[in-house]
Amino acid sequence: MFWTPERVDELKRLWLEGLPMAEIGRRLGITKNAVVGKAFRMGLQRRPSVKPREEPDLPRVVEFSQSTCVWPVGHPGDASFHFCGERAVPGKPYCTEHVARAYVARTERGAIKTGSAA
Ligand SMILES: [Zn+2]
Repeated sequence: MFWTPERVDELKRLWLEGLPMAEIGRRLGITKNAVVGKAFRMGLQRRPSVKPREEPDLPRVVEFSQSTCVWPVGHPGDASFHFCGERAVPGKPYCTEHVARAYVARTERGAIKTGSAA
């Protein structure tokens, strides 16, 4: 059986490094098509075309499929733009801190809009 847990980990690691699929295949000794097929079955997301490689602490693509905070940090388009990546509150897209911030932001907007009677 080719896909041992070690090889799966290696595929994931190379995938997350942003290597071309043909290169991943070369390193694993398999075809590019085998890499694509396996990555698809593993549910690995399509990688962003521009990857800020100099930011090793960025949350990885695969982690977004687990419950991690997707609160945007910085400005989209900037090289430093990323998502929070902390463990999300179950049922929410954000971590505890950002759920609180999202909630406060919403209440403040609502209060302004409705002209709170308080
Ligand atoms: Zn967060």
